[in-house]
Amino acid sequence: MKGTVLHGAHDVRFEDREDPRIEKPTDAVIRIALSCVCGSDLWSYRGIQKIDQPVAMGHEYCGVVEEVGSAVKSVKPGQFVVGSFFASDNTCAHCRLGYQSSCQHREFFGSAQAPFLRVPLADGTLVPTPGIPTESSIPSLLASSDVLGTGWFAAEAAEVKPGKTVVVVGDGAVGLLAVLSARQMKAERIITMSRHQTRQTLAREFGATDIVTERGDEGVARIKELTKGVGADSVLECVGTQESMMQAIKSTRPGGHVSYVGVPHNMTLNGEQLFFSHIHLHGGPAPVRRYLPKLIEMVWTEKIQPGKVFDLELPLDQVAEGYRAMDERRAIKALLRP
Ligand SMILES: [Zn+2]
Ligand SMILES: [Zn+2]
Repeated sequence: MKGTVLHGAHDVRFEDREDPRIEKPTDAVIRIALSCVCGSDLWSYRGIQKIDQPVAMGHEYCGVVEEVGSAVKSVKPGQFVVGSFFASDNTCAHCRLGYQSSCQHREFFGSAQAPFLRVPLADGTLVPTPGIPTESSIPSLLASSDVLGTGWFAAEAAEVKPGKTVVVVGDGAVGLLAVLSARQMKAERIITMSRHQTRQTLAREFGATDIVTERGDEGVARIKELTKGVGADSVLECVGTQESMMQAIKSTRPGGHVSYVGVPHNMTLNGEQLFFSHIHLHGGPAPVRRYLPKLIEMVWTEKIQPGKVFDLELPLDQVAEGYRAMDERRAIKALLRP
């Protein structure tokens, strides 16, 4: 088969690769229905995160089970499944406490920007949908695989609750779906920090009540102004830069919560500043697996349509254009159809 391989900065190729096959009895091989490019793929695409050798790309997926290993019990060929970017057994101590992305046996696996994918620890990792989904619901199921699950975690980790004032820093797919999640958790006010018209429109559709276009200290001042000088209850940091993290911390009221789900790059926190901020911090790679059954159910019953974040669809062999469009911010998120 052919799949997506990153060779270096701005060099994405769709090229021959070995067909995925069952390597361990706990594996499954799935036929990808849809895949996509992630904002986090852009760190290595832009050369900010260095790679030493060509890397197979893609970690967001859904599709139909083709084959399972002899030890797999809960997933069967023919089922439509959604999984997360970390394979997890869903039985160890960390998994049982809801932190599957810190599973004691976790395996990160890329290479989902391809027609077929090997999924390790299939029983723990994959969640079957109630049946074969309609064509129009597949993008929303795919979104559950990472960006929705990550946005949901951002909202939960920042203790979004009914009546609260929420700020979302970052208007990428995760930030936009963090808005949707905060709306589902009945936040009273949801302030999105965004400078882009199309993203602001989608944020409003997902439930944002206010838009702030200023950044850095000006952005913080604007949040203070909107909250009568107090700061927000919950601030969801969905970027991963020094500027966005500091903006999040400074926008939070004493006693408030900051969640951080953007993979940090060159970010350091000042202990003294943290000490006097009086905030709660909780974040990390989202345990998407914890939320998958709930998110699939909400998509299945058409309560939410997170698939709206995909504003570009390409045949899989044009994956390089998907990276370009997202890098140049011409697209929020590129859908790839094998
Ligand atoms: Zn992702
Ligand atoms: Zn585990």
